[in-house]
Parts: sequence; C-alpha cells; structure tokens
Amino acid sequence: MPGTLIIITAPSGAGKTTLVRGLLERDPQMHLSVSYTTRAPRPGEQDGREYHFVDVETFRTLRDRGEFLEWAEVHGNYYATSRVWLKEQIATGRDILLEIDWQGAQQVRRSFSDAVGVFVLPPSVDALESRLRGRGTDSEDVIARRLLGARGEMRHVAEFDYVILNDDLQNAIDDLVAVVRASRLRYGRQRLRHQQYFDFLEQD
Ligand code: 5GP
Repeated sequence: MPGTLIIITAPSGAGKTTLVRGLLERDPQMHLSVSYTTRAPRPGEQDGREYHFVDVETFRTLRDRGEFLEWAEVHGNYYATSRVWLKEQIATGRDILLEIDWQGAQQVRRSFSDAVGVFVLPPSVDALESRLRGRGTDSEDVIARRLLGARGEMRHVAEFDYVILNDDLQNAIDDLVAVVRASRLRYGRQRLRHQQYFDFLEQD
C-alpha cells in the first residue's frame, strides 16, 4: 500500500518548522523529505539534515536532468524536492511530509492528486513580523523581503485542504496530528489498506 503524502506550506515565521518537529515526535510513521536548496546554511543547520545544500550550478544541472519532482525560487534562492527519493518512499509505503512553498505544492498535486495540503497561518500579520525578527539570524533586508513574500504566499491559503492557525503551539501540533490521522482514514486509503474486506462488502 503506497504511503500518504502530506504537503505543509506556510510563510516563513509562521512556526512551521517547530510544528513539523512536534508532529514527527508524535508520529513515528511520518518521515520528512529533505529538500535541495541553493541558500546558505543557517547556524546549526547540517547538510543532508535540514537541506541538501548545493550551489546554483549543481541545482540547475539536477533540475535540467529531471531529478526534481518540483522546484521553485523562493526569496531569491532555489528549492526542490527529489523525484526519485519521494517516489521510492511513497511506493514502499512510507508516509512523507513535504515542507514546501505554494508553487511547489501546486506542482506536487499534479503528480500526486491525493496528496493532502495543509496551510499554516500565523495568528496575525503582526505576530508574523515579530516572529521573523525574533529569529535573529537574518538581516533587515532579508526580513523585509520575507514579510512581503509572506503576504503573497498567504493569498494561496484557499488552495489547501486544511488550515492551521498557529497561535498555541501544542494546539497546533494536535491539529496537525489530527489532520494526518484523518488523511489516513480517507475512503481511498482504507479501501487500499483493507482490500479484501471492501471487495467482500461491495459484492452483489
Ligand atoms: P527556509 O529557507 O526558511 O528554510 O525556507 C524558505 C521557503 O522555502 C519556505 O517557504 C519553505 O517551505 C520553502 N521550501 C523549502 N523546501 C522547499 C522545496 O523543496 N520546494 C519548494 N517549492 N519550496 C521549499
């Protein structure tokens, strides 16, 4: 039975990374896809753990070879999801979480029509701004660019199946756990999981 694919999208500063960490701790069946990026690692980030950090030339070569299921330019850097890795994981039945932007989410839905899209909103635009400043690892210039980008990104909320407002972290983690759990219970998934049972029920 193929795995479930969950896409989680949020403007930077919505608290998505912490939320995802919370989900992974609570749900050992869920695995995170490690994206490729051309942006520089932030302090504490490790190659192969948060991202595969590559230069622009390498990224373009991989992209042009068709290695990516989706790719996008976000805040002046390139990001992408590995096609082969993801397809293998899903085919072997692993549940995979993609932490990608709305452009990537649109592309993934074209290949995986039953992927579940989750959009994480910060509780307010003010909260978003203070979270972006609070991280303290990016310059003013980068923060201003990200704020502008965040407004544009949040306009795509309607393209997602579920929306989580991250005003209380524990609540938001509970919400995300619930979404993942409900996704596994969709008719199509249950039918695949319990094929003989459903075949029997649907006999004349
Ligand atoms: P950050 O640089 O803060 O880690 O991520 C910036 C943005 O890039 C976030 O919106 C994140 O979701 C997005 N992103 C990360 N990985 C990917 C990816 O593989 N594909 C796409 N399309 N976006 C990604």
